[in-house]
Amino acid sequence: MVRAVRGAITVDRNEKEDILDAAKELVQEAINKNDITPDDIISIIFTITPDLTKAFPAAGVRQLGITSVPLLDLAQPNVEGALEKCIRLIMHINSDKQNSGLHHVYLRGARVLRPDLLEDTYIAVAIDGPAGAGKSTVSKAAAKDLGFVYIDTGAMYRAAALFALEHDMDPVYDIDGLVSILDEMSIKISYDRRGQRVFLNGEDVSDQIRTNDVTKAASAVAKIPEVRARLVKLQRDMAERGNVIMDGRDICSTVLPNAQVKIFLTASVASRAKRRYKELMEKGMDTTLETVKLDIMARDKNDSEREVSPLKKADDAILLDTSDMTFDEVVECVKGMIKKVI
Ligand code: C5P
Repeated sequence: MVRAVRGAITVDRNEKEDILDAAKELVQEAINKNDITPDDIISIIFTITPDLTKAFPAAGVRQLGITSVPLLDLAQPNVEGALEKCIRLIMHINSDKQNSGLHHVYLRGARVLRPDLLEDTYIAVAIDGPAGAGKSTVSKAAAKDLGFVYIDTGAMYRAAALFALEHDMDPVYDIDGLVSILDEMSIKISYDRRGQRVFLNGEDVSDQIRTNDVTKAASAVAKIPEVRARLVKLQRDMAERGNVIMDGRDICSTVLPNAQVKIFLTASVASRAKRRYKELMEKGMDTTLETVKLDIMARDKNDSEREVSPLKKADDAILLDTSDMTFDEVVECVKGMIKKVI
């Protein structure tokens, strides 16, 4: 029987690569969710909002190897207040399923278009904040207590920094060189009893990425839009697979703008420096409180002044200043916010 699957996805930038990637993701998801193969597709029609001018989504579908299906791109009318940078899809398929058994796919920002389909989607908790605010320890503890998966996005930027350093590239000066070899960089995340493990081209680099050199390089690498685009995609894919607490700098605003809980966790520079110094001492690293403080201030400056996704509290994130709170108090407070939505 001929059936029709609907779907939509938003993109961050009006860039060819982003549009093609989004079209691929949308079609692939429609295929996976409906348990069909490309041979079951009869035709695909996309509509695109007028602010997307750099590519036709259909070209992305051809990149998936789907070349014999009729494809069409249409312009969506310029409707006031409509979701921006959005690609919509109607895909006719051969399927034995009833209409009620079909899975329509609304991804990223486009999930708001069909809240009725969100019932079986997962809870996302987004936590942003400056270096040393305690995001990772707090998120880890809250995730463990609530049975959520903790995703440390900083570790991914650190792995990208290690990739640059391993190729003798200075992420401040060799940006073009680094971008030109990004296709050779594969970052994967997995979990074992120790928690999140980060793999760079198949090698577990979870410990290597914690050195001072990598820390500094990470905040330089994080300024490169091409690096961010790759990692943001990886992060969103992970959030679509389960209940997550994800921490970073741009999670509330860019990575998971529809997260059910959004928190901006911060603390004064002095108390962040003190906590980080204690942590480094416990790991046996050789440094001084003053050095740690200067590093934190430099990273704050780098993270908040960069052009792409600067560190900034999202308007709808709850501000949590932990300068005068104990660790347990912060964890309880974060868990309280999450419990309200589960
Ligand atoms: O959180 P962590 O210190 O591990 O992050 C390392 C660096 O990665 C940060 O200084 C920041 O520049 C960058 N980062 C980012 N966006 C994120 C997470 C980390 O830019 N979502």
